[in-house]
Amino acid sequence: MVVAYLYFFVVGVCLGSFSNVLIYRIPLKQSIAKGRSHCGGCNRQIPAYDLIPIVSYVILKGRCRFCNEKIGIIHPIIELMGGLVAVFCFWFFKFDPLGLVVYAIMMVLMVIAIIDWRHMIIPDSLNAILLILFGVYLFFTYQSWQSHLLGALVVPGIMIATNLLVPSSFGGGDVKLMIASGIGLGLANSLLAGFIGVIVAGGYAFYLILTKKVNRKSHIAFGPYLCMGIVAAVFYGPKIIQSYLDLFNI
Ligand SMILES: [Zn+2]
Repeated sequence: MVVAYLYFFVVGVCLGSFSNVLIYRIPLKQSIAKGRSHCGGCNRQIPAYDLIPIVSYVILKGRCRFCNEKIGIIHPIIELMGGLVAVFCFWFFKFDPLGLVVYAIMMVLMVIAIIDWRHMIIPDSLNAILLILFGVYLFFTYQSWQSHLLGALVVPGIMIATNLLVPSSFGGGDVKLMIASGIGLGLANSLLAGFIGVIVAGGYAFYLILTKKVNRKSHIAFGPYLCMGIVAAVFYGPKIIQSYLDLFNI
């Protein structure tokens, strides 16, 4: 069992390393398959022995071997996250193949969250991949066609209606994100995901306004918070909803 956990951790770290490539290249519209990675400082190609996830960052003390340019701490953090999420999925699902689907969903959500946080955009290509993955997820977790249909419609509908009242509250990418995930999650879980996203984003925005880091007219990226909501709904949605209902003895 320890070997299995170690195996999934190492594979996850490598996939986390690939996520770094996606996070960096997709917003720049660069090919994700072709071309080796370059240093952002001196533009030199990074040698293969400096591309070992996490290990290389520690050995190089977070700087480029040639020009001493700082390598963002976010890189090893994403690699580590890739490994930890893999371990968590394995612990949660054991050998259930659904665990692999959920792991892929988690990694795409992580890429979406970081790209949206940095660039205020959710690329359509990533929402399309998420839609396919949640389509597979649906087969494992099928509730009823009404639930999955409404899951794809209700939260995005509320977001579009909100936009009519308060223009550009949500971006098109946010709406597509909730369509893609809502199909798989079903109505109750997608409502929960949207609700958690809005609460966390609202709390964060409130904090930023209180500390005068932004004013009321500033925009914050919603994607990362919606992604948090989706993560919570995937793993603990039914439990959270049940404990909420228990409060009222329903
Ligand atoms: Zn360099």
